[in-house]
Amino acid sequence: MRLVTYSRMGVPSIGVELESGILDIPDAASHFGRKYHVRGHSFPATMMDLLQWESGIDVVRQIVQRYKKTPEGERLMTRPLDAVTLEAPLSRPGKIVALGKNYLDHVEETGSESPNFPVIFAKFPSSVIGPDEYISIPAVSSMIDWEVELGVVIGKSCRNVSEKKSLDFVAGYTVINDVTARDLQMNDGQWVRSKSLDGFCPMGPCIVTQDELGAASKLKMHTKVNGVIKQESSTSNLIFSVPKIISYLSKSFTLEPGDVIATGTPSGVGFFREPPEFLKNGDKVELYIEKIGYLRNKVNK
Ligand code: ZN
Repeated sequence: MRLVTYSRMGVPSIGVELESGILDIPDAASHFGRKYHVRGHSFPATMMDLLQWESGIDVVRQIVQRYKKTPEGERLMTRPLDAVTLEAPLSRPGKIVALGKNYLDHVEETGSESPNFPVIFAKFPSSVIGPDEYISIPAVSSMIDWEVELGVVIGKSCRNVSEKKSLDFVAGYTVINDVTARDLQMNDGQWVRSKSLDGFCPMGPCIVTQDELGAASKLKMHTKVNGVIKQESSTSNLIFSVPKIISYLSKSFTLEPGDVIATGTPSGVGFFREPPEFLKNGDKVELYIEKIGYLRNKVNK
């Protein structure tokens, strides 16, 4: 399933993207009756609440199956994609854990050595924006760079899990732009500010559930800026795979539903190009990952 957070006339909700458009999940739940209500409370209306409900995604799956079994003339209306605004699937993740230097080609372009263990940093959840929102160039930086990354959305609490079991805790996958202020990254001595400025974590367009996406180990990906390819790779080039990352992280801290892992970026970032390139007012950034789709944002000042 392709799970989305969307708004229509300013009212946010969650839905499933179907061929005919978006099926509103809370609407469909109430349409199909009380058994989908959670202990007398109304159905989750945010992705975070849905993920925190242990059986949430399974229930959505049942709702979609029921919708598809309904004769076409009697079906609930879906909302055409062009009649709604897609938001970041998770507007405020619990935590955003990110990996540096996790593609060999990117490690090479930085001129450093391949790490023996995952390089971990964090992005503040307040940096998240959705598809088509603006990445605003902040006054404190003049070196704003792009990084296409596979985002892993955690669906169940996990602590100390093995690689083999780790995917049981994944809800699905999304696309993340790990936008970075390179000047701050170099000057600060650590990365959190340069990675956490307002608007520096575009995310979307949806969360593709694991059962639909399958293995995340061979997904083609690219970045285009103003229509020109800048990054082009595949998750098959990850140094530390998704199961390795989850197992490694979970040995240090609990991963919780609604946490997001940005798994690192391949080569082709602006900073290491000849000559270096940075985002400027009016630029159009398009990030693509196979089976998930495009995350598009524009840049303003
Ligand atoms: Zn990154």
